[in-house]
Amino acid sequence: MIEQKINEFFGDTESSGFGTGWWSGILSAFFGFLSLGGVLCLHFPQLLSTPDLRPHYPMHTLRVLIQCLIVAAILFGVISSILRKKKTLALTGMLLAIAATALGGSSVQINGAVHGGLAIGLDWFLLDLFLMALIYVPLERLWPQYPKQGTFRKDWTLDVVYFMSTHLPLQILSFLVLLPATQATKYLGVPVLQELIARMPWLLQFFFAVVVADIAEYFIHLALHKVPFLWRFHAVHHSSKALDWIAGSRSHFVDDTLVRGFILVPLMLGFSQSIILAYLIFVTLHATWTHCNFGLNAKWLEKFLVMPRYHHWHHTSQKESIDKNFAIHFPWIDKVFGTYYFPEEWPENYGLSGEEIAPDFFRQTIDPFIGKKRTP
Ligand SMILES: [Zn+2]
Ligand SMILES: [Zn+2]
Repeated sequence: MIEQKINEFFGDTESSGFGTGWWSGILSAFFGFLSLGGVLCLHFPQLLSTPDLRPHYPMHTLRVLIQCLIVAAILFGVISSILRKKKTLALTGMLLAIAATALGGSSVQINGAVHGGLAIGLDWFLLDLFLMALIYVPLERLWPQYPKQGTFRKDWTLDVVYFMSTHLPLQILSFLVLLPATQATKYLGVPVLQELIARMPWLLQFFFAVVVADIAEYFIHLALHKVPFLWRFHAVHHSSKALDWIAGSRSHFVDDTLVRGFILVPLMLGFSQSIILAYLIFVTLHATWTHCNFGLNAKWLEKFLVMPRYHHWHHTSQKESIDKNFAIHFPWIDKVFGTYYFPEEWPENYGLSGEEIAPDFFRQTIDPFIGKKRTP
């Protein structure tokens, strides 16, 4: 197992609390990895950066960010190597940062024009990983619902692979997702509706879009649970036995494509591009948030907005909550359709109930197509 190898290589028996050099080592390795990836993107923009994102990059800010990551990797590496007996993490972080510097660091010039064409979305992968980890990991470490779970819980590498799989081939995926929606607007676009919506204040348009999207999401999500052929794909998302921000990435590409496509079709009928873009950013942040290992409950807010405890009940393997809580933004949608389940406590068990799927990414991707069954 790759996880075991990683643990043996980097880990040790010393405490991993604050002040032990563990977190500084992790940060050094993480920042070192990001900085090297960033420098590689500067060297090979044609191959490694997403064409749709390139024109929007504030290059000066990104160069400063890469420089800061290099400095931070070295700094945290030094701290960790002073505090901790085993230096592997610190050395890895510092070596990655030194490699990034040796390759030209943040000042690598982009020569010649960069054209469209096939590319790997390494830039998007690194940026999103950095932003999501920056937002959610501190929240999960400060207020965890399951403190023993840890950031590097079982199967975390599998979820990193899923995260990569939805970011690196961004072009292919966004094509698959947008195709049904753009095709539909050709035939179903309603100019009167578009004009009507455009007259509302921006915030109201946005709120309305979230409602429309969540109702659409409700029905495709329900179908993913109730239609046996579709459940094969969605079962991958439900196979996580522990939830956190990155567990939300575990999703078969057919599942992702269907959900995004179904949400975008009604949105494209009447909403402007800026509202749809704002919604896509919102859904990424909110859907990730609902999977977080975050224990604080805000009772007054839970009634209106899906919070982690609500979506955790959707992921439980406990009988009483199977096929409940399909909504991803508003709990009242489940109330309306009779699928609401929200007790005071948190679930005890997560994962699939009475079935099992393959443990690795490759077979999880193939098995649903061929209908391969595994008995627990
Ligand atoms: Zn589900
Ligand atoms: Zn989920």
